[in-house]
Amino acid sequence: MQHHGRHALITGGGTGIGLDIARALAAEGAEVTITGRNLARLQQVADETPRLHPLQMDVANDASVRDGIAAAAQARGPVAICVANAGIAEGAPFATASPEHWRRIMATNVDGVFVTFQAALATLGPGDWGRMVAISSIAGLRGLKGAIAYTASKHAVVGIVRGLSEEYMGGAVTFNALCPGYVDTPIVTRNAAQIAEAKGISDADARAYLARGNRHKQLLSTDEVTAAALWLCSDGARSVNGQAIQIAGGHVT
Ligand code: NDP
Repeated sequence: MQHHGRHALITGGGTGIGLDIARALAAEGAEVTITGRNLARLQQVADETPRLHPLQMDVANDASVRDGIAAAAQARGPVAICVANAGIAEGAPFATASPEHWRRIMATNVDGVFVTFQAALATLGPGDWGRMVAISSIAGLRGLKGAIAYTASKHAVVGIVRGLSEEYMGGAVTFNALCPGYVDTPIVTRNAAQIAEAKGISDADARAYLARGNRHKQLLSTDEVTAAALWLCSDGARSVNGQAIQIAGGHVT
């Protein structure tokens, strides 16, 4: 129960990687605010697990994040652990990608991390302990064909934690990013369905195709990402700061 009494906030905490991290932090004693746009789904998972607290919040909407995090802090105390996980993964060939596609991805994946960390940090006092983790991607470290906006957005996430680690150097708050390869979550299920349709192949073959994007050619499970997140949020990871950690079955870049 290393996080007993601490308040953690996970954006996109109602599904996939975010939910798995939320449950693990709650098991370690934290009171965990899980956020997303779909309140019914958040409420449902909160009903199933002690110490999860649902909060409707759209990370692409500044006021929604600032008001939501301030309210969560009022209810459960300063946000000592913040996992900026909410994100969307949409591909489009560069030549035909629309400005709306670009802006939608940037608003969620980049602006969302910026405002989430800013609002979470604002709840902490001088010298307070904190762990800020952002979920980037292998696309935050190398180029991904047919997904320029996603690639740029995830590179920006790495830039945010590197910059913040310098700006807050010497304090008790650390900033790191996790860069997973293909993880078996609703995002991969949706992508596999699209690939299956586009290529005229089975769903299983489409999943195998995505798995080959990982160096060991296997889809990751969410608990592999969670294990790394738990470590970054631990007291022992005090000196790990400004890192972008690859979880992809091998060296990416
Ligand atoms: P999910 O689709 O399950 O999770 C995405 C979450 O983000 C959902 O809970 C969704 O909640 C939330 N979300 C999306 N847009 C918004 C928004 N505007 N405001 C608030 N919440 C939002 O997939 P994953 O768990 O896989 O994705 C989590 C993160 O991991 C993403 O950042 C993704 O890019 C990253 N990632 C995933 C990989 C994978 O292979 N699965 C690989 C590398 C990185 P709601 O719908 O309720 O808003």
